[in-house]
Amino acid sequence: MITDLGRLTEDWSKVESIVLYGAGTVSKICENLFSKIDIKIECVIDRDPEKQGKEWNGITIVSFESIKDRIHEYKIVVMAAHTAFNSISSILEKEGLKEFEDYCRVGQFISEWLWNEKGLNCVYHVDMTVTTRCTLNCRHCNMFIPYYKERRDYSFDELRSNIDLFFARIDYVAYFGLIGGEPMMNPSLVDVIEYLENKYSSQFGRISYASNGTIIPEDNLLEVMKKYGVHIVVSDYSDIIPYSEKILKIKDRFEAFGVDYDIKPTIEWCDFGFPERPVVRDNETLKVHLMACRPEWNGLNDGKFYYCNVSWSAEKSGRFLLDKTDYIVLKDIDPNDRIACHKISELSRGTSTFCRICGGCGIDNKQFVKTGVQL
Ligand code: SF4
Ligand code: SF4
Repeated sequence: MITDLGRLTEDWSKVESIVLYGAGTVSKICENLFSKIDIKIECVIDRDPEKQGKEWNGITIVSFESIKDRIHEYKIVVMAAHTAFNSISSILEKEGLKEFEDYCRVGQFISEWLWNEKGLNCVYHVDMTVTTRCTLNCRHCNMFIPYYKERRDYSFDELRSNIDLFFARIDYVAYFGLIGGEPMMNPSLVDVIEYLENKYSSQFGRISYASNGTIIPEDNLLEVMKKYGVHIVVSDYSDIIPYSEKILKIKDRFEAFGVDYDIKPTIEWCDFGFPERPVVRDNETLKVHLMACRPEWNGLNDGKFYYCNVSWSAEKSGRFLLDKTDYIVLKDIDPNDRIACHKISELSRGTSTFCRICGGCGIDNKQFVKTGVQL
């Protein structure tokens, strides 16, 4: 199996204290984890002057400049997603620091360091698809929903089975995502959240789900979200689709119930190409592409664990056939065999045969398109 694990240099094994970089959204997801593991955190770096001088999890937030002269003394764990990681990475590289030697992504730390030093099988981010139905039909949907031959909701029993299979084999996942399609179309959403929270809350950092903002959430969903601190990200496509009043209504509902939410305005998307114009790559460009698109979202669907949820969706749409190396059938792994279970963490930092023809979301994909354009 191709995996990113095993790339941290040997001296990471001696590490007793680290510096964290990034006190934004990703840091919230990781709070719970860093409270549990026995490692000293010297400080948290963040470039936002509003955060500097405040605390994250009881640890002081400082500017990079204030620690720059001593930064070479520490290993740095970057708590930032994709684009933010790339810009932090270039700041660190300018200081002569190298990824895997001096710093790493928090996902790498979770899956590699926690296994090597604490014997824990961990994954950074897994998404479970609760429905492939959607209220919209976006031409450049990165789950290829408009191109599905058949769409459906997953039943509570199917989703519960995925959850049980996963948590019997994985000690901790920082981010558990519930995605679609439009997740609110599945009437089991509340039950799934309750089940996760009641049975596995010590094994994950945060539940989050994504919505396109076309459905006004019911009271029982908002109550359960508030109760457990479930986060929602709403994509606002209202500059393309006329539904800005609904977005405002949803915002009011979140405010009224005290729900943790983000409403994200339209940004440029990258065209993944598939299925209309799959990307053609030779081995050299594939290598560059695999380095560029390391999205850190794995998939948990149909009783299997996938390196990339996008690849699962490509197959599910009925237009691509994955290879057996692209996923792990969870029931085939003995939950008491820790080394066998570690294969899941390895695949979480792996690759997929679908990457060869998928545009992906790395810096090598320059095919920018307008968000939310409907078919
Ligand atoms: S709203 Fe989201 S899931 Fe639905 S079609 Fe658009 S991009 Fe895909
Ligand atoms: S290129 Fe690969 S890793 Fe990136 S989104 Fe596509 S399938 Fe996923």
